Amino acid sequence: VKHAATFAAARADLRGVVGLVPTMGFLHEGHLSLLDAARSACDTVVMSLFVNPLQFDRDDDLRRYPRDLERDLGLAEGAGVDVVFAPAVETMYPAQPLTRVTVATLTDHFEGPHRPGHFDGVATVVAKLFAGLRPDRAFFGRKDAQQLAVVRRMAADLSFPIDVVGAPIVREPDGLALSSRNVFLDPEQRTAALALNRGLAAAADAAEQGARQAADLVEPVTTELAAFPLLEPEYVALASQDTVEPIETLDRPAFLAVAAWAGPTRLIDNVHLDAAGGGFVADRGVRLDHPSVLYQEG
Ligand code: AMP
Repeated sequence: VKHAATFAAARADLRGVVGLVPTMGFLHEGHLSLLDAARSACDTVVMSLFVNPLQFDRDDDLRRYPRDLERDLGLAEGAGVDVVFAPAVETMYPAQPLTRVTVATLTDHFEGPHRPGHFDGVATVVAKLFAGLRPDRAFFGRKDAQQLAVVRRMAADLSFPIDVVGAPIVREPDGLALSSRNVFLDPEQRTAALALNRGLAAAADAAEQGARQAADLVEPVTTELAAFPLLEPEYVALASQDTVEPIETLDRPAFLAVAAWAGPTRLIDNVHLDAAGGGFVADRGVRLDHPSVLYQEG
């Protein structure tokens, strides 16, 4: 795998149909599934690895974000990545950027108000990656449902000729959605964290059995969360996939999303409810049948 630190060095090795997988590193199987999807659909795969200061709303989160370049290069190599673009902060932002990309309305709810500036940071850095690397396709996880919608809309609004592809959530064997931040959970927090997926799974069953009211889908999630006093929920809500507006009735492609704190670690998870055959089918994601590489000794 080639390790490039500038846009020009990364671009020099891109041939044919180019697939981009943006990441903040400390790779897990969620990232690896995006790399596999890119590998299958593209001639060249470029993975960006950049812990983007612009998208962090809390300094402590940025400071403690896990980082291990050597580990990530090894995993990227194993996944058949051609180029890892890992720029320094000074390369990505030689000066304080005066130009910011803001995607209105799609950021009004859910993660937006809880993380001031976050989506401007995401939209700005993804626009820079799109402009600087010029991929044909870019791959994003459904784990960050609102981010996926924001990136799709940004690419359309700014006429980037790039296919934005969404991929299912990858989960640990017990159902916890993979996140680089899972390494911070202590055993008690980790047990509590399972409530998010349990609640969403119950809601997914309800939706497939015909439940259509948001309140009836939210209820199983809030009930599961309430069993663990150490969890501090921020929101549980049904949203439209395209506009990311709260909806009262499941009558279009939607996702049921949850955010909660487990101690100092913020967790998000969701289940997408996709239209199929006149009804809705839940995307429950994919469960690993082995412990995640997150917990492998380096
Ligand atoms: P991150 O490194 O956390 O910024 O994530 C990089 C990309 O991987 C984003 O498109 C995320 O949505 C995606 N991703 C993160 N966790 C998962 C997961 N558990 N399953 C699928 N995709 C994920």
